[in-house]
Amino acid sequence: MGYNQFLNPMSREEYSKEPYLAMLQRKLEEEGRLMPFSRGVVRLCVTEKCNYECVFCHNEGMPGVSKFLEVEDIRTMLSAYKDWIKDIKLVGGEPLMHPQFDKVVDLCNKICKTSVTTNGVFIKKWFSSLMKLRSVTVSIQSLDNKRYGQIMGTNTRLNSVLNGIGELLNAGMDVHINCVVTTKNRMELEGINEPLRAKARSIS
Ligand code: SF4
Repeated sequence: MGYNQFLNPMSREEYSKEPYLAMLQRKLEEEGRLMPFSRGVVRLCVTEKCNYECVFCHNEGMPGVSKFLEVEDIRTMLSAYKDWIKDIKLVGGEPLMHPQFDKVVDLCNKICKTSVTTNGVFIKKWFSSLMKLRSVTVSIQSLDNKRYGQIMGTNTRLNSVLNGIGELLNAGMDVHINCVVTTKNRMELEGINEPLRAKARSIS
C-alpha cells in the first residue's frame, strides 16, 4: 500500500503548494502518524538472498535470487542522507549473506549505531562485526527442532543458532528474538498464555 493511501484525499492545488515528501511528512505529523521516513529510520535491505524458506516469507526464501546491494551504492545513499539518518536497521533476505557484511557495518556505523535482523546461521562467521552493532535481532519461529525446520524451511540445527546467540549474550550484546506466531507454532505460546493474561488483567 502506498503512503498516499494513508492520507485523506487532497486537491490538486494542495499538492502543488509544496514538495510531495515535505507535504507527506507534514500531513502525517498533523494526523499523529509519523512514518519511519520522517523519523530518520532506514531499513537497509542489503540482499534479497536467503538460505531459509520460511513458510510465511513473502517469497518463500526467494529461491534463485542472488543480488546484493553494492557497498559503493550504500556509501552513496548514506552520504546523501547522512544529516537526516538517525537509525539504520540492516535487513534482507538474510543480511549476513552479504559477502561484505563487515564493510556494510563499518559504513553504517559511521552514520549512527546500527542494528540487524537475522536468522542467526552466520553469527559465528561475522561475530566481530556483529559486536559493533547496537543490537542483534534473531528470528526463531520455534524452540522445537523439528518444527523450527518445518516452519523455516531448513535443515539447520536450532542448537547452532542458539549457540551463536549465547556467544553474543556472553559478550554483552543486546539480543532480541523475533517470532511470527502462526497456526504452526501457536501451541508453544499456550503455556505462557494464561500467565500473560493474568498479568494484563492485574494492570488493566
Ligand atoms: S529468514 Fe527471513 S528472509 Fe529468509 S526465508 Fe525466512 S522470513 Fe524470508
